[in-house]
Amino acid sequence: MAETIDCAIIGGGPAGLVAALYLLRFRRTVLIADKGFSRAALIPRSHNYPGFPDGITGEDLLARLHGQVRGYGSPIRRDAALAIEPESDLWRVRTQEGAVLARRVLFATGVVDRWPQLLGARQAIDRGVLRFCPICDGFEVGTKRAAIIGNDDHAAQEALFLRSYSPSVSLLTDAAVLSAGLRDRLAAQDVAIVSFMPGSLRLVGDTILAADPQGKDLPAFDVAYGALGVAPQTQLLARLGVTLDAGGCVGVDAHQQTSVPGLYAAGDVVRGLDQISVAVGEAAIAATAIHNGLREQDG
Ligand SMILES: Cc1cc2nc3c(=O)[nH]c(=O)nc-3n(C[C@H](O)[C@H](O)[C@H](O)COP(=O)(O)OP(=O)(O)OC[C@H]3O[C@@H](n4cnc5c(N)ncnc54)[C@H](O)[C@@H]3O)c2cc1C
Repeated sequence: MAETIDCAIIGGGPAGLVAALYLLRFRRTVLIADKGFSRAALIPRSHNYPGFPDGITGEDLLARLHGQVRGYGSPIRRDAALAIEPESDLWRVRTQEGAVLARRVLFATGVVDRWPQLLGARQAIDRGVLRFCPICDGFEVGTKRAAIIGNDDHAAQEALFLRSYSPSVSLLTDAAVLSAGLRDRLAAQDVAIVSFMPGSLRLVGDTILAADPQGKDLPAFDVAYGALGVAPQTQLLARLGVTLDAGGCVGVDAHQQTSVPGLYAAGDVVRGLDQISVAVGEAAIAATAIHNGLREQDG
């Protein structure tokens, strides 16, 4: 017989852990299933997460959240959630270690960045040379020579955003498809469109090098942002009929409930700003709505 719990949380990044914290403090029984690939673990040092004036590494923040959750009991811990199916008025959550029946499910599965093909990419992320989010750390770019790696209007918009920090911003592209208006705006803001040879991007020391289409090295960049989009982790939702937006993110109401009653979502997997403070705010809203809904159901 599968155990019945109040809420299964799928994903143990900032959103999932904060939802667990709230639900445990509401004295709810909780399962956290986590594959362990939080985007937060890639953050060399965040300077925009409130309460840490000297910044905090993503690993440190996750460790602190785990510690805080542990202070309120022992949620059931599992690795990847493999499938979720409705079963009468519950949800059967299958994991490699077995199944549970959950009264509610919260999806906090995040997104996965599409990394540029760059030799030494992981090292470059650790050194803060390859980045993914100008809103997070554009401030720290200062006057460095910056590149946005991407091919579409979204990448061009990020280049324009970054231009308010650095006087030296290039759109580094191997197949740009840009609307005419944006090309004009890039030119007006002195953002160069620079073509590079696919496969030539590499980390050299603390700079990023690329070759032009003829194979000649381009001037080095001090920092580069990958702007090739993200893959929202919604595979489990596909068969549940949950409504996704045009970008593949989960649509939710004001209480973080999806289009299917009983299923909630929070964090990057939900449409909107992909930031830790947004993820934890959404998790707090979802957990509180879940608790209040269960109280109402139980009379
Ligand atoms: C390099 C980098 C720097 C960043 N810097 C900042 C910054 O300075 N400030 C800021 O606010 N934000 C920053 N971000 C963004 C921030 O990391 C995310 O907004 C935040 O991690 C979102 O939290 P989340 O819990 O929604 O998703 P995540 O942290 O990505 O966690 C999702 C978790 O769900 C797991 N999962 C997915 N599918 C399943 C499944 N089927 N079963 C079980 N588990 C599953 C994943 O493995 C992962 O562990 C940065 C991101 C990157 C990549």
